[in-house]
Amino acid sequence: LQMEKVEFMELYHHVIDRFEMNVEEGIHLERDLPDGKYYVWMDKDKMIQVMDNIITNAIKYSPEGGTIRFRAAKQKSQLLISIEDEGMGISYDKVDKIFERFYRADKARTRKLGGTGLGLAISKELVEAHHGRIWAKSKEGKGTTILFTLPLMNKKRRGKK
Ligand code: ATP
Ligand code: MG
Repeated sequence: LQMEKVEFMELYHHVIDRFEMNVEEGIHLERDLPDGKYYVWMDKDKMIQVMDNIITNAIKYSPEGGTIRFRAAKQKSQLLISIEDEGMGISYDKVDKIFERFYRADKARTRKLGGTGLGLAISKELVEAHHGRIWAKSKEGKGTTILFTLPLMNKKRRGKK
């Protein structure tokens, strides 16, 4: 991994901007992001790959007119990032399996959308390599939220040894 100090919100906005320029009309991207600065020690290219995988899925499994909502919030020493869609969803008995290699939740339905079932398995490996966690919440027919955490860098303590 090529680790460096990165301000997360700037990176997140940049990734979303890139999708916004290309996304088909009829899919809405909405941001609910804090203004502050949040520094994470990360491999920037790998973290872009994680977000690309999650957002590509959200778009792929969204209906016409669907909204994808991007959130981030500080939770103690972690940053909690979530990407929520209004797509077909995943049944509760399958939702934890989507992070397994080559797993595709609904063969018949997803076959025509293409893919190998690797995107989320790779994303999980990369998030865990950054000491974060990744999981999903979903309701069939309502939508899916992918959540992941990343440890925030410590603020420099002044005046202390
Ligand atoms: P690849 O990412 O390798 O092109 P893929 O999208 O099928 O293929 P993953 O990204 O790993 O593979 O996702 C695994 C499976 O989880 C998908 O096939 C799909 O069934 C389900 N899935 C993932 N994200 C969503 C989502 N946002 N809404 C509904 N189902 C999803
Ligand atoms: Mg995918």
